[in-house]
Amino acid sequence: MDPDEIDRIAVLGAGNMGHGIAEVAALAGYDVTMRDINEEFVQNGYEQIEWSLDKLAEKDQISRDEADGALDRVTPVVDLEEAVGDADVVIEAVPEKMDIKKEVYREVAEYAPPAAIFATNTSSLSITELSEVSDRPEQFCGMHFFNPPVRMQLVEVISGANTADETLDTIEELAESLGKTPVRVRKDSPGFIVNRILVPLMNEAAWIVDADDATVAEVDSTTKYDLGLPMGSFELADQVGIDVGYHVLEYMHQELGDAYRPCPLLAEKVEAEDLGKKTGRGFYDYEDGSVEIPTDAGREDVQERLLAVMANEVAGLVDADVADPEAIDQAVKLGAGFPDGPAKMADDYGIDALVETLDELYEATDEERYEAEAALRDLAEAGDGFHGSADGETGGETEYDVLNVAVDGHVGHIEIARPHRMNTISEELLHELDTAIDELDAHEDVRAVLLTGEGDRAFSAGADVQSMAAGGGDPLHAVELSKLGQETFGKLESLDAPVVAAIDGYCLGGGMEFATCADLRVASRRSELGQPEHNLGLLPGWGGTQRLRHIVGEGRAKEIIFTAERYDAEELEEYGFINEVTDGEDLLDRGWELARDLAAGPPIAQRYTKRAMLAGRDDTDAGLEVESQAFGHLMNTDDLMEGVTAFMGDEEPEFEGK
Ligand code: NAD
Repeated sequence: MDPDEIDRIAVLGAGNMGHGIAEVAALAGYDVTMRDINEEFVQNGYEQIEWSLDKLAEKDQISRDEADGALDRVTPVVDLEEAVGDADVVIEAVPEKMDIKKEVYREVAEYAPPAAIFATNTSSLSITELSEVSDRPEQFCGMHFFNPPVRMQLVEVISGANTADETLDTIEELAESLGKTPVRVRKDSPGFIVNRILVPLMNEAAWIVDADDATVAEVDSTTKYDLGLPMGSFELADQVGIDVGYHVLEYMHQELGDAYRPCPLLAEKVEAEDLGKKTGRGFYDYEDGSVEIPTDAGREDVQERLLAVMANEVAGLVDADVADPEAIDQAVKLGAGFPDGPAKMADDYGIDALVETLDELYEATDEERYEAEAALRDLAEAGDGFHGSADGETGGETEYDVLNVAVDGHVGHIEIARPHRMNTISEELLHELDTAIDELDAHEDVRAVLLTGEGDRAFSAGADVQSMAAGGGDPLHAVELSKLGQETFGKLESLDAPVVAAIDGYCLGGGMEFATCADLRVASRRSELGQPEHNLGLLPGWGGTQRLRHIVGEGRAKEIIFTAERYDAEELEEYGFINEVTDGEDLLDRGWELARDLAAGPPIAQRYTKRAMLAGRDDTDAGLEVESQAFGHLMNTDDLMEGVTAFMGDEEPEFEGK
């Protein structure tokens, strides 16, 4: 089927995932019938869609008209024939039970038009087996959304053994037209990509604790603060439900062998019905308060072990031709919020060191899960990584991982490319930015620079607080980090070519300090800006105490920093921070237009104007020195710990000035 011919989508199941998928499809303009087994269930799903659309409109992410229009396009039904009778695509999200799903496909095949494609949202069941009970195995594939579908960017598009390429192409285009990023999974392999990485990681975390090699706190501190994953391994298991992970693991064990034997610690939790957050207790006790993971209990040996197991899974997926390392990294970043993909993390650590770790563990335990994949060993022996040679050089052109850098005509474009982390700024990003500024500065065509953030949520939501809290708040490291940001942003500020920032969505903290270094700022109406550092017991440490006042005046700069409030774009236009406010859909065009206008201006006059204005400022350097020292000093305060903990737990901080 040609993707342009898709108008009507049937979603089967109005539960957690079904109602979310129906909402996403309706928002993208499709007519949707949503089916469940009785009136109450389907109505409940419909009400959840209504609630969610209302929230999106309240937050200005969509207009009221769009919300009403989307709701109008959803028809809740119980009758199956009515649901699928004229559907172009049927997306199934009924319970994760093989017999229920098979029954559904037998029935649906009777009523759906012959051209309709069937896509299952299963998290783990065999797509091939399901396709074979339908009457159209070539027109059948996996379409695995993540929870909640409205917010999560990733869709794994999975081929069954009989799926036609045309079917996969169409479903990928459909995912794109829903505003999602599809990643193709070439084979129907248990756990597909994201769960194949996450679930063995959870299992290994449990094995480490089970063997008394480390505590839950040490493993979670390592996962969250040293590896920089959004949650600790046990915290994530509790969040998802220990039973959910355990069942996927059992399935992997059955299909892929003993390397996936579930750790008894997980089985014990499932038997005791301590399933995590949903039952009030799992690895943490939720009745007793929120999860507290120490920032400084990470251990190098635990980190190495978790990375080694992940690298082995990546090698297994690549070797079986399920996906290549780029696809794996993209899927895990978007589907699990990893700061970097597992292949990149393994490359950065060193594949040879990880193979050595696996070999040592295998020798000590004789456990199959530590048997290094031949493909991983080959990489180590060749001194290679998943992404090419270990030194990262691919000849000439600079490779960026967290930025998109390009030159279009006379405009150099730097886009922050961490949409899965709200474009937050990490140390790695600062280093890449430094390189990108040098590169564009040296580029003979570049006469203006445009700054943007990838995706539709944030220009940049600030510093990556989690990676900054890592290392247990070492003050010396903090001073260095502050200086690195100050210098990198300073380099941007003193770039000869004029710089335009096009701001859409959140522009907070370090993100606002970054935008402050542009010469002109244009923002979409829905943008939210601010310097919330005081809420964390910190101060703006990347030039914010100095540079902001040159633009808005000291009085307003103090107001913005001391109140730590969020401002909308129009307010900051009045303050003189934003030069122009546009509607969301016009922002990028306007940003490009301004950058091109400036690129057509007189370069020498522009350069000297910028230099003269900078030179005429009072002693910013002295101020920056105090700022970075103070930033280091704050690392050792209780207030910072209080601020960060409250931020992570979404609570109000109680500062004591200690
Ligand atoms: P859920 O239990 O919330 O919803 C399932 C719904 O399907 C229920 O409302 C149920 O009444 C309905 N249903 C049962 N039989 C049906 C039938 N014959 N026709 C139509 N509807 C029927 O489950 P969920 O969490 O939405 O999961 C649905 C699917 O999505 C599963 O395959 C699951 O593995 C997968 N999935 C879940 C998540 C997640 O985080 N929850 C993420 C990705 C994929």
